[in-house]
Amino acid sequence: MTVPAAPHADTRKYLLERVEDAAVVQLYADGFDGLALREKTLIFHLYHAALAGRDIYYDQRYEHNLEMRDVLEEIVTHAGGVDAGALDAIWRYTKLFWINTGPYNNLTARKFVLKLAPEAFAAAAARAAANGARFPLRPGETLPDLLARLHRGFFDPEFDPIVTSKTPGAGRDILQASANNLYQGVTMADLEGFEERYPLNSRLVRRDGQIVEEVYRLGGRYDTYIREIVRHLRAAVPFATAAMAGALEALIRFYETGETADRVAYDIAWVHDRDSPVDTINGFVEVYMDARGVKGAWEALVYYVNPDKTEGIRKLAAEAQWFEDRMPWADEFKKQGVSGISANAIDVVVETGDSGPVTPVGINLPNDQTIRERHGSKSVSLSNANQAYDKSTLPEFRREFAWSEEEARRAEKWSSVASELTTNMHEVIGHGSGRIREHLNGNPQGVLKEQYSALEESRADLVALYFVPDRKIVELGLVDEADHDEIVRAEYEAYARNALVQLRRVREGTQIEEDHMRNRQMIVGWLLANSGAIEVRRREGKTYYVVVDVTAFQRDAGRLLAEVQRIKSEGDYDAARALFETYGVHFDPALRDEVVARVDRLHMPSYTGFVQPRLDAVRDSQGNITEVSISYPLDLAAQMLEYSGRARTTQA
Ligand SMILES: [Zn+2]
Repeated sequence: MTVPAAPHADTRKYLLERVEDAAVVQLYADGFDGLALREKTLIFHLYHAALAGRDIYYDQRYEHNLEMRDVLEEIVTHAGGVDAGALDAIWRYTKLFWINTGPYNNLTARKFVLKLAPEAFAAAAARAAANGARFPLRPGETLPDLLARLHRGFFDPEFDPIVTSKTPGAGRDILQASANNLYQGVTMADLEGFEERYPLNSRLVRRDGQIVEEVYRLGGRYDTYIREIVRHLRAAVPFATAAMAGALEALIRFYETGETADRVAYDIAWVHDRDSPVDTINGFVEVYMDARGVKGAWEALVYYVNPDKTEGIRKLAAEAQWFEDRMPWADEFKKQGVSGISANAIDVVVETGDSGPVTPVGINLPNDQTIRERHGSKSVSLSNANQAYDKSTLPEFRREFAWSEEEARRAEKWSSVASELTTNMHEVIGHGSGRIREHLNGNPQGVLKEQYSALEESRADLVALYFVPDRKIVELGLVDEADHDEIVRAEYEAYARNALVQLRRVREGTQIEEDHMRNRQMIVGWLLANSGAIEVRRREGKTYYVVVDVTAFQRDAGRLLAEVQRIKSEGDYDAARALFETYGVHFDPALRDEVVARVDRLHMPSYTGFVQPRLDAVRDSQGNITEVSISYPLDLAAQMLEYSGRARTTQA
């Protein structure tokens, strides 16, 4: 049963600080203390496996990331005597760098720079060096040489300006226009006819006129990190359930060989482990960072099941076939025998790489379409992350963009219930649904290319929007009948408002890059153009997206969903591109400027970075773990420096 979050006595600190347009929020994992020692010990080893790979993602995201981070961390930990104004600017930039894993905003994909005179930065670095800082100098290099080499990375917004550029404009290559480190000197044209043996887990590099795959595996690229990950995974195995131990062994094997067959074996073992109370995601998983949508960004999450919240989600999963049969798309695209969807509400203990400090709120894996169709998928909703988001949201945030007092009240009362419900629907009956044509060989990504991720996110969102008003939701006990209409309206209003409010995240340019943002923009843009469900209204110079017809909203979301499913099932690239180019990518900069002015007046954050719990183990004289304690650092800088192996010596 999903119930509204009652006002209870949780007076703990959630919002820790604001850094420009980012919020820093503490994540809590309240159920950890109640776990058995065996499970805590398992989590402890997996937690270290998660931390061990953190720098892989830094390196994948930008080739200069690790050096830049070293420079920053050496300065802030040896800052005695550094000019206070300069140090302030360096701290601000360093915190944003940590939250975003480098100098690219995780939502807009655009670069942000250090707002400080380069001479002042050089003086701070020199001072830190005098205080004993050790900078990542190359042989024969001096500190000024190093700073000159990294100068454009820190200060020039036009140098490597976008981490992932899926639509760089006519005549420009998506790989060349993307600053990430998944390719070096390779263009899309170069890849025509190139047989990729390790599509998910390699970097493609042009070397002596040839394209070479640098494989992410033991003995390959990222060997030192992967060796540590594997060591901790091995330590975890004896504490896992039999099914989970099998999955961990398969994961270790994949890290050893890097072979696709071993990745498939791991995915299958992982998806078949449905009942373990603890689980982990660790590896090269999501493909959003790659403009081609092929290379996996490294991430790790460690979590345990939250049994209270899982009950509601399981009810949805058990009825997956019921929903599939009633999807508003053509019968030929409906799946038969939908069975494999497993869904849990979980509390995360740690998230690194692509999933931390900025976290997703729901995950459905594996991404391999063939495995999803044959073996199903596992879906998790991150309860404690959702809770922390909700607890740290300012009430003014909802009020500012609500057309009426009633809408603001509905948002206040129901937004957390509605968003948890639709997140679950998105993951459990959304991503898991639908059938694609045989000729796509289970790989619609291959033909839909850079449009795939946004299209798939739209599909899952639309499934949730289409079914949230269905009586079935009441029959399953997910909401009370008396509240249902109001919750549906609150959800539709929040969805429409979000298309406006999310523009605050794209402060430069007139294009949306991030796939989830494109998806939401597309859906609302399409409804505005093709349905009477939402109206644009203006009052006192402010724009509002107002839901005026709930029935039309559902009906037309269903119409759009049928088309989106057809595009996916048939691999209709041109239609996908046209849909997003028309409704999902471009926006009016004047409207964005208005939204930015409104949120800035209220000092609202655009996104959130989470401080993770910290685990410590007590060991007996033989080295066996006898207790694992959890604590909450309440301090981003302390945690980031700890993860990098640096002690913190100065105040933020
Ligand atoms: Zn999704």
